[in-house]
Amino acid sequence: MCRWILVIWAAALLIMPMKTLAAEKMDEDVIYEKRMELYKKAEAVSCIPWYYFAAIDQYERHVRQVRRDLPKPTGALGIYIKPEIWAGPLNKNPYDTNPFTISQFGGLGIDGNGDGIANRKDDEDVIFAIARYLQMYGIDHQHIKMALWNYYQRSKTVDLILGKVKIYKKYQTLKLDGHVFPLPLRANYSYRDTWGDARGWGGRRMHEGTDIFADYGVPVRSTCYGIVELKGWNKYGGWRVGIRDINNTYHYFAHLNGFSANLREGQIVEPGMVIGSVGSSGYGPPGTAGKFPPHLHYGMYKDNGYTEWSFDPYPHLKSWERMERRKTK
Ligand SMILES: [Zn+2]
Repeated sequence: MCRWILVIWAAALLIMPMKTLAAEKMDEDVIYEKRMELYKKAEAVSCIPWYYFAAIDQYERHVRQVRRDLPKPTGALGIYIKPEIWAGPLNKNPYDTNPFTISQFGGLGIDGNGDGIANRKDDEDVIFAIARYLQMYGIDHQHIKMALWNYYQRSKTVDLILGKVKIYKKYQTLKLDGHVFPLPLRANYSYRDTWGDARGWGGRRMHEGTDIFADYGVPVRSTCYGIVELKGWNKYGGWRVGIRDINNTYHYFAHLNGFSANLREGQIVEPGMVIGSVGSSGYGPPGTAGKFPPHLHYGMYKDNGYTEWSFDPYPHLKSWERMERRKTK
């Protein structure tokens, strides 16, 4: 009897984590479907392609995740419209939900789902408000770009959103969370957590990344879906590539031996795509190499809507390596 209980208990323990993982996956699928439904509705009323809404939403969701001064999203959408923008700057009631008075005061808020109130916490009201705002400028790319610039007043934000537009347009899906380790797992490499270590060269600097040691010429791969934001020489980083993913994260690959043929700024990349190879370039004028053992310097940076800062890539590298190993088994 006792043995059976033990067996059942052990089996339950084994099944449980798998079940929660599957449930999480399903929740994710449901939320992606819900979001796509909202974007498509906005597309239907405005004639603006869905991926513009997806890009704005994705940008804002990830800004909110890292900002303390903004409330966390509660619905399917991540777009946050400030009360005074929603209700109109001259409206004495910033929490106004009356579509008529809001429009009198030039607020962005509208009643998108026909329930009589303009609720800035209702996903349909929010997405239709954004659709109408963009539509006021025009429905072609140039006019949407202008609308975005006027709304955010920050060219970096506009660039980040338009980068996502390109990626969503190409893949026609919201499911672009896949990641891989930057080096092929079969290659000979080693790395440890060196985040924050002191670096002597070029004054007192903190080490903003993880060094992955490997031989010259080992392929370096994109770790994510993203867009090549930077490619070129820097006296510290040598030949380097910067890739912006759909979560506003910037992935920095430095000290490369060289780049893949045809790699160019603005290009869309995906997990596993080879972008260059391991080298020891850097710490001098263009072309300098061999001042240290060959390795890939991997850095990660996050944009929060007004600034960008680096964070420790080591835990991410570990988890991508683990996930990839599990998949190839
Ligand atoms: Zn480094």
